[in-house]
Amino acid sequence: MNFKEKIRVINDFPQPGIRFKDITTLLKEGKAFKAAIDELAARLNGKSIDLVVGPEARGFVVGAPLAYALGVGFVPVRKAGKLPAETVQANYSLEYGKDSLAMHKDAIKPGQKVLIADDLLATGGTISATLDLVKQLGGEPVGAAFLIELAYLQGREKLNGLEVVSLVKYE
Ligand code: 5GP
Repeated sequence: MNFKEKIRVINDFPQPGIRFKDITTLLKEGKAFKAAIDELAARLNGKSIDLVVGPEARGFVVGAPLAYALGVGFVPVRKAGKLPAETVQANYSLEYGKDSLAMHKDAIKPGQKVLIADDLLATGGTISATLDLVKQLGGEPVGAAFLIELAYLQGREKLNGLEVVSLVKYE
């Protein structure tokens, strides 16, 4: 399937000069959404994975169905202050802005193999902070999966050789 044609590009959102990749047009098409998740799962076939970790909010939309398809658990990463139990935290900078992410302290057991999932890899800031959280808990990051990769922002380079799988690339 041509996933790129299912993604809508909105100019100047949320700031002038940003060409926002809107995945809602892909998500609302059942066949495209299912094909995208199945394709990511197929590309990860054979990899040993215990958990999928996804940052809010679009990381839930990709990470939870991917975890289901792989038959493993899902761990949510949220903005600081949103999770109810004890958390670990990590600061990060976005393509536009700064924030702090949190994960429950008991979400990952030391040595568990963790796949990180999000809708889009831009500068890699969000995934670096998510990796930081995984490592704080002794998890072993084994890869990262995305619907979209903005290759020109070179987010991969920030991830220290972590295997990256993405369905659609913008060069
Ligand atoms: P990074 O931290 O890699 O610079 O930015 C990636 C994060 O910002 C992801 O969590 C993603 O949801 C969000 N993001 C940044 N730009 C876009 C975009 O153009 N489209 C979408 N859907 N998300 C974006």
